[in-house]
Amino acid sequence: MPSFLDPLAGFGVSFRTIFKKTMTESYPEHPHPVARRFHGRHQLNRHPDGLEKCIGCELCAWACPADAIYVQGSQNTEDARFSPGERYGSVYQINYLRCILCGLCVEACPTRALTMTNEYELADTTRASLIYEKGDLLAPLLPGMEAPPHGMRLGDDERAYYLGAGLVSATNTSGGGAESAAGQEGGS
Ligand code: SF4
Ligand code: SF4
Repeated sequence: MPSFLDPLAGFGVSFRTIFKKTMTESYPEHPHPVARRFHGRHQLNRHPDGLEKCIGCELCAWACPADAIYVQGSQNTEDARFSPGERYGSVYQINYLRCILCGLCVEACPTRALTMTNEYELADTTRASLIYEKGDLLAPLLPGMEAPPHGMRLGDDERAYYLGAGLVSATNTSGGGAESAAGQEGGS
C-alpha cells in the first residue's frame, strides 16, 4: 500500500547518488578491458605451419544449443591439403544472430581448433553480415606460417601434429613462430 513517505524514499536515493564518485566510460574511444576468459567472437586456429586445426567433424555444430554453427567437411588430397589428416572444414559458418556465446562448441572441439576471443563488438546493421564465414573466423597467418593448401611440414601424420611434435619442429626451424602460433588461440 502506497505511503506518503514513498516520495521521500525516492528522493533519498537521488540524494545519496549525488555524493557518489562519477563513473564515466568513454566508450567507444576507450573500451573497457574484459576478463581474460571473456567469451567473445570465435576463432578457428591454425597449426604452427599454417594448416588449419579444424577437421570438419561437426561436433561443435551438434553441441550448439542454439543451432548457430554450420560445418561442411571435405576430403584433403595430397594436391590440396588444408589440415593434417583426412578431412578439413571446407564450409564453416557461425550465425551470431543465434549464438549466445556459451562456449559449449569450444568444449566439444576435439582438436582445439575452435576457441573464443575477447572481441565483443559484434553489432552490425544487416542480418547477413552477422553470419560469419570461415574466412572471417580463421586466425591470421603469423610469421613462420604458410597459407594452405600445402603439405604437412611438421610431421608425417596428424598424430604428430596433435601430440605437438610440430610445435617443437617449428620452434627449431622458424625461430619463434611456434610460440606465436601457440599463443594465437583465443582465451577460452
Ligand atoms: S558459443 Fe554456444 S551458442 Fe554460440 S556457437 Fe558456440 S555452442 Fe553455439
Ligand atoms: S571446429 Fe572443432 S568440433 Fe568444429 S568441426 Fe572443426 S574440428 Fe570439429
